[in-house]
Amino acid sequence: MILDYHIHTTRCGHAEGTMVEYVEKALERGLKEIGFSDHLPLSPAPEGTWSCDWAMQETELQDYKNDVLKLRDEYPEITIKLGIEADFFPEKESIAKTKALLQLCDWDYVIGSVHHVGPWPIDSSLYLTEFEKRDLYKTYEEYFSLVIEAAHLGIFDIMGHLDVIKKYGYRPKEDLSSLYIDVAKELKKSGMVFEINTSGLRKIAKEIYPAPLFVKELVEAKVPVTLGSDSHSPDEVGKDFGYVVSLLKSLGVDEIASFSKRKKVMVSL
Ligand SMILES: [Zn+2]
Ligand SMILES: [Zn+2]
Repeated sequence: MILDYHIHTTRCGHAEGTMVEYVEKALERGLKEIGFSDHLPLSPAPEGTWSCDWAMQETELQDYKNDVLKLRDEYPEITIKLGIEADFFPEKESIAKTKALLQLCDWDYVIGSVHHVGPWPIDSSLYLTEFEKRDLYKTYEEYFSLVIEAAHLGIFDIMGHLDVIKKYGYRPKEDLSSLYIDVAKELKKSGMVFEINTSGLRKIAKEIYPAPLFVKELVEAKVPVTLGSDSHSPDEVGKDFGYVVSLLKSLGVDEIASFSKRKKVMVSL
C-alpha cells in the first residue's frame, strides 16, 4: 500500500489549491491513504529567530482539524489522517509551548521537523549567504545533533525531511556516512519513524530527503519508514513515489509505517 503523509494546505500561507483538490489528486493517483500535515503554529519560535512565517495561526487549528474530519466523511473511498508538522526548537520554553499546542487536537501522527539552526531558518531562501559564512560540515553536524535531540524528546512520531539542510545545494565535501550512521542509531533508539520526502527532487538539491545513502543506513539500523511528498500544490501529491518504492524494495524494505491516533501500524508496501 502507498500512502502520502506530508501534505500542506493554504493555511501555511505558501501552498495552493483546496483540500478537496489534494484528495481528488490522491484518488486519481491511486493512493489508498493520505494525511494532511500542515505547519503547527510557530508561536514557539524563540525570540530573535529570523523571519519565518510559514505556519498557520493558533486560531486556525480547530478549523484545520474540522476540515480534515469533514473530508474523511465525504471521501470514504480513501483513508484520510489528521497529521501536523511541528517545528523543533531546543529552548525549554519552546518545547513546553509545542507540547501544549500538540495537546489541542487528537492527531493521528506528528511529524517533527528541524527547520532552524539557532535563529537561522536553514531551508529559507532569504538567508542563503549564511551558508557561505560557515563551515558546511560543522553546520551539518550541528543540524543533525538537533535532529537527534528532537528524536529523544518523545513528542514526535515521524522525523521530517532528515537532510533538508541540503535543499539549496550546499553540501560539504566530506563523507557524511558517519553522521548518517549516528542519526540512524539514535532514531532507532528513540522509536521514531523517518519519512522519505520527495520534495527534495523538486528543489536545487535534486535528491530525496534523506539521500539514498542515508536511507540505506536507516534501513540497516531498522528504523521504520513512511512516505511524504511535502505537497504545497495538489499536483505534488504522491509525486515520485514510484522511484521511492523501487529504492525501498531494492533495499529489502517491504513494509511502511501508518499511524492512527499516534499508534504505529506497519502495512505492506
Ligand atoms: Zn518541513
Ligand atoms: Zn512540510
